[in-house]
Amino acid sequence: MSLERLNEIKKLLNEYNYQYHVLDNPTVTDQEYDRLMQELQALESKNPEWITPDSPTQRVGGQVLDNFTKVTHQRMMLSLGNVFNEDELRAFDDRIREIYPQVEYVCELKIDGLAVSLVYKDGHLDYGATRGDGTVGEDITHNVKTIKSIPLTIDYTGDFEVRGEIYMPKKSFNDLNQKRKEAGESLFANPRNAAAGSVRQLDSSIAAKRKLDAFLYMVPTASEVGCSTHLEALNYIKTLGFKTNPMTRICPTIQDVWTFIQEMTEKRNDLPYEIDGIVVKVNHIAQQERLGYTAKVPKWATAYKFPAEEVITKLKDIIFTIGRTGQITPNAILEPVRVAGSTVQRATLHNEDNIKNKDIRVGDFVVVRKAGDVIPEVVRSLKERRDGHEKVFKMIEVCPHCGSKLIRKDNEAAYYCLNEHCDFKKIERIIHFASRDAMNIEGLGEKIIEQFYNLGFVKCIEDIYGLHKYEQEIIDIEGFGKKSMDNLMTAIEKSKGNSMEKLLFGLGIKGIGAKMADNLSKEFQSMDALLNASSAKLLSMRDVGETIVQSLNHFRNDEKSIKLINDLKELGLNMDYLKDTSLIQESLFQGKTVCLTGTLELMTRKEMKDYLTRLGANVTGSVSKKTDFLICGRDAGSKLDKANELGIRVMSEEEFKEEVGL
Ligand code: NAD
Repeated sequence: MSLERLNEIKKLLNEYNYQYHVLDNPTVTDQEYDRLMQELQALESKNPEWITPDSPTQRVGGQVLDNFTKVTHQRMMLSLGNVFNEDELRAFDDRIREIYPQVEYVCELKIDGLAVSLVYKDGHLDYGATRGDGTVGEDITHNVKTIKSIPLTIDYTGDFEVRGEIYMPKKSFNDLNQKRKEAGESLFANPRNAAAGSVRQLDSSIAAKRKLDAFLYMVPTASEVGCSTHLEALNYIKTLGFKTNPMTRICPTIQDVWTFIQEMTEKRNDLPYEIDGIVVKVNHIAQQERLGYTAKVPKWATAYKFPAEEVITKLKDIIFTIGRTGQITPNAILEPVRVAGSTVQRATLHNEDNIKNKDIRVGDFVVVRKAGDVIPEVVRSLKERRDGHEKVFKMIEVCPHCGSKLIRKDNEAAYYCLNEHCDFKKIERIIHFASRDAMNIEGLGEKIIEQFYNLGFVKCIEDIYGLHKYEQEIIDIEGFGKKSMDNLMTAIEKSKGNSMEKLLFGLGIKGIGAKMADNLSKEFQSMDALLNASSAKLLSMRDVGETIVQSLNHFRNDEKSIKLINDLKELGLNMDYLKDTSLIQESLFQGKTVCLTGTLELMTRKEMKDYLTRLGANVTGSVSKKTDFLICGRDAGSKLDKANELGIRVMSEEEFKEEVGL
């Protein structure tokens, strides 16, 4: 079975290699290619007897085009090993440090272009060649000469080889594709393919128009020209007039390497050229020589590849979700796939026109992108991978929630459900509750609420406080990320301590805006007092008229509304007006972890917990190193012992009372 799979992958990779390296026209993303290559490597390392010399794991690059003069490289031009995450990077470092504990690295940007070898004879450019299959490349001298940053003469006597990357700057790429589009020609998939396609033109006037550039990053004879480190070699070629990349940095530790990677990940989009990773190289040439090479890559360097922002997966189904305004959005249900560091199972398809224009069908292989936004999108379908079982998309005609006929508004691509009693009204209520002037739950914006609603995590206001139950699903499925999830949980917990007027406004009672909620809260001080107030008492307030009383009466006579209040109380939400919220910010317990023990006399345990939550504390059930305070009632037991053991501050109820001024 696995031999079958191995042969299948080999066949696919050879095909992809041909399309990429020879035709400069890839049909799958680099990430899909890398994933298959990893699978092949894993199969081969389990069964080394299956490794053949023609395996894609053993070979560099692709074939050499026939219509070019062939050049045999003086020294093999190799590829680079890959790492895809911090653990793999550290494992690379461990292997090197076993031999050289004091190793120092040079980190460079991995320019997304194509490798070139430039050979000079007695100071004149003799030829420029592509990497080809590593042994034999194509002579591209005529096109290299059109690149202005490559010197045609250098101050050096004898033979000199320098290697680097020819690339197409983002601007040249966009201009080129724009022109091709206007001329009705096919577009280049990315700047790398455009650069490769330009360099492998027989007519040099074409390459000249395409504004290519080159960074040089390697001298194969570094030690022979008197350099003992890679960095010295880079500085040397700079003095000879070659362009080197300015972002290069010496990194003495693997932590420094990781920091560089993170910094460059941030800067990546602002660079005027594409990079697809970071190359990490051992700096000392003598160490490089001792570490050596495999058949395909140097052992003294590796490339950290950026996580995929675009991946390929199968579209299993199309479902429809509803938004705050009643807008219906088609969504793709996908075969789960890792993209930009998280697993994605759903992606937006935006609207009917988008699906039809791109001819996206159920059963298609599709490219999914996650760029910045939390919600991933389907970019295009791979029509060449269809097998005839795909289903053509048809837009639904009635709302999937209430069955009302959907309406397409003028000049809009979207369909809407306009039934006032449909589900989307519930989404609107939840959005209002979490909004800034109401409960101010940071991280719970419109888009996220719509998404959580459609996934069934939040169907009503109370559900916000039960979101922790879906923690893993949220982190894993929607690419929300652990950090955003932690921040959201903190924001939700914090909202429980809000003063009454925020909650009252958040309930969305007709006529009770932020100002009115404030006035009513000040007047009645607690939710109970307000809900039990007589109409006469309410009307005696300056701003309160009949309409407000009527809508309050409607609210307090409604069973569901009273249940909501009781549920929220039960969930630990504050129901009182807090006189001076600024004092709370300064409380000793703000942001601290507090544990309670023993029999409390001042208030019940639940009341104490709620009170502390309002003061900004996180109340936990057990004592650990993270605990800041232990508040002790009568007959405290093991928690007190543990707190003393860990040196945690212990407070009696009396001390607590004094501290908070009760
Ligand atoms: P590679 O791109 O992973 O890395 C090696 C290359 O990096 C070098 O040859 C060099 O050209 C380049 N490079 C850029 N900056 C460099 C620097 N500062 N120092 C050293 N080298 C630098 O390996 P490869 O063999 O060129 O190509 C394999 C990769 O190409 C695959 O991992 C895949 O991502 C992609 N590929 C994609 C398809 C596809 O169909 N999408 C097919 C084949 C290959």
